[in-house]
Amino acid sequence: MRKNIVAGNWKMNNDLKATKKLVKQIRKSIKKSELENTRVIVAPTFVNLATAVKRSKKSKLEVAAQNMHQASNGAFTGEISADMLKDIGVKIVILGHSERRAYFGETDALLAEKVDAALANKLEIIFCFGEELADRKAGNEEAVVESQIKNALFHLGADAFKNIVLAYEPVWAIGTGETASPEQAQDMHAFIRKTLADKYGNEVADSVSILYGGSVKPANAKEIFSKADVDGGLIGGAALNAKDFFAIVDAF
Ligand code: PEP
Repeated sequence: MRKNIVAGNWKMNNDLKATKKLVKQIRKSIKKSELENTRVIVAPTFVNLATAVKRSKKSKLEVAAQNMHQASNGAFTGEISADMLKDIGVKIVILGHSERRAYFGETDALLAEKVDAALANKLEIIFCFGEELADRKAGNEEAVVESQIKNALFHLGADAFKNIVLAYEPVWAIGTGETASPEQAQDMHAFIRKTLADKYGNEVADSVSILYGGSVKPANAKEIFSKADVDGGLIGGAALNAKDFFAIVDAF
C-alpha cells in the first residue's frame, strides 16, 4: 500500500539555530501523534542537513536534500553529489523543483541524469513537475506534465518506482497563495497515475505516492488530501512553522 507523505521544503530558509528548533518541534509532534501510514520529511539547506539528520535519529522524521549534482565528484565548484549526501545519512533528494527549473536552468534531460545518479546511489527521489499558468490557460497542462514525466523518468525500469515519489506542483500555485482546487489536483493526479499505468501497469501506478504542492495550508490540506489520488503534500511556506506544518500532517 502506498504511503501518505508530508514533506517540508525549507528552500533557502532557516539558519542552524532555526533548523535545530524546528526539527525538535516536529519530532515532538510526531511522537505525540503516533503516525502510522504517514511519513514526515523535512528538506533543510545543504549546510544544515547533517545537523538535521543527527537530530532526527530515533525519530520517524526523515531528512531530504533539496537538490544534488548528477556527477559523483570532480571539478564542479559549489556542487554536492549523491555520495556526499549519503555519507552524512541523507536518504532522500528532491529533484526537479520548479525553482530549480526556472532559476537554475534545469531541463528534463539534466533531470534524467540526476535521477539516474540518485537511484544509482540508492537515494529515494521526490520528483517535482508541474505546468505554468500559461500552459493551464491554454489547456495544455496535461501535455506539459506528461512530457516532464516521460522525459525525465520513462527511461527507467518499473523497479525504479519503488524509490520515486512524484510531486505535482503547478507553478502558478507555488508561493502565490493560489491553490489548485481539490478537484483540479485530483484530476491531474488521476491523469499522472494513468500515465504511469499505461507505461508500467496498474500495480506500479497504484504503488507510487503522488504529492500535491502549491500553497497548501492547514485550512486547505484536509480537503486536498481527501482526494483519492492525492497521497500528501510538498509544503513550502507553511513548512517553516512547526504548528502549521504539523496541522497539515494531522490533516490525514
Ligand atoms: C514548494 O515550493 O514546493 C511549495 C509548494 O511552496 P508553497 O507551499 O509555499 O507554495
